[in-house]
Amino acid sequence: MDEECDYLFKAVLIGDSGVGKSNMLSRFAKDEFRLDSKPTIGVEFAYRNIRVKDKLIKAQIWDTAGQERFRAITSSYYRGALGALLVYDITRRSSYESVGRWLVELREFGGEDMVVILVGNKCDLGESREVEEEEGKEFAETEGLCFMETSALKNLNVEQVFLQMITKILEITSQRSL
Ligand code: GDP
Repeated sequence: MDEECDYLFKAVLIGDSGVGKSNMLSRFAKDEFRLDSKPTIGVEFAYRNIRVKDKLIKAQIWDTAGQERFRAITSSYYRGALGALLVYDITRRSSYESVGRWLVELREFGGEDMVVILVGNKCDLGESREVEEEEGKEFAETEGLCFMETSALKNLNVEQVFLQMITKILEITSQRSL
């Protein structure tokens, strides 16, 4: 960890293939949108230093890099992760229907206090919407998750969703160290 960082947080991106995870990560880490994104096999991660509530946090965000297509995410992907963005595509109902399965896996491999945010991505494609915002929100409430809709393409709420996750992790971590 960099000397000047107060915390290093690992967080993971999870959800069906094609929902926009890689593009959300490149937005957050590099502020760019990869139109030609082709998932590579393996696991990728990116870092970004971010200041939250007077603390400098090194956020290490892991991306499945295509592994989720084969349901080949292993427990090492989740190991040590304090937060997760569970992403679906608002224009693809099947990706929303998979959320429950991803949640089971997250709860099995992730820590008890893991901060999970349900993310409905591609909200710029409102005309092709298959999942209402209210539906995602209600599901998140019943499962005790936070919820946000984003667009990696239009860069809507991407920064906010990562920030929300990191802030919540920081709250939990600092309460624990009191
Ligand atoms: P991943 O497989 O979940 O990592 O998804 P990718 O980030 O590779 O994105 C899959 C496809 O969706 C790509 O063609 C992206 O250009 C597109 N995409 C990602 N996010 C958005 C978004 O917010 N809006 C729109 N319209 N397209 C998106």
